[in-house]
Amino acid sequence: MEVDLAIAWLRAAADSVAASAGELTRLDAAIGDGDHGVNMNRGFTAVIAALDAGTFDSVGDVFVKAGTTLISKVGGASGPLYGSAFRALGKALPAGPSVTVPELAAGLRAGLDAVRKLGGAEPGDATLVDAYQPAVDAFKGDDLAAAAEEAARAAEEGARATAGLRARKGRASYLGERSVGHQDPGATSTALIFRALTAITAK
Ligand code: ADP
Ligand code: MG
Ligand code: MG
Repeated sequence: MEVDLAIAWLRAAADSVAASAGELTRLDAAIGDGDHGVNMNRGFTAVIAALDAGTFDSVGDVFVKAGTTLISKVGGASGPLYGSAFRALGKALPAGPSVTVPELAAGLRAGLDAVRKLGGAEPGDATLVDAYQPAVDAFKGDDLAAAAEEAARAAEEGARATAGLRARKGRASYLGERSVGHQDPGATSTALIFRALTAITAK
């Protein structure tokens, strides 16, 4: 992955988040406070503005910029969580204009570790970890398009499966058993972000 492709991924993710903002907010209205689409859209719009305003020699710097922007611009839980993920991804990558698929895979896992450390969610707690963890586990091999496709499928499956889980972290956990039957908004946006990578890498 080169600098241009990293930026293209974030741009595709921003487009997808914008197109699905209503759906993300609807999911959050059912079990949270109904702002996930607004939060994500505000954050990714700011990310694109920050990337447009800078020049980047290193793939890692692109993701660090995305992460720090999300942390500073999004008030909800998702801002610090996604922000930490992208920042940790960026910091984990070797400096330079291009990274290999295994380096990207290791970076994505560093992002997952950052989310787990910050939010304390375990797999099965009905959070974005339930999409992010299977995506990272599926992101394998040396072919970016194939790794992205497997990761996106795993994230989508993980996001769907949160509907059967009781939420144990975040606002949805206040509902206890009543959160069961509702798909987690953050897991849904994580799946959108991984799916966005397939849109720009598919051959
Ligand atoms: P807020 O809940 O502050 O309004 P958002 O609506 O933007 O923030 O994001 C909610 C999403 O954040 C949830 O659907 C869930 O996926 C994720 N989330 C919340 N708390 C945690 C946590 N402790 N660990 C991992 N993910 C979390
Ligand atoms: Mg919310
Ligand atoms: Mg909120």
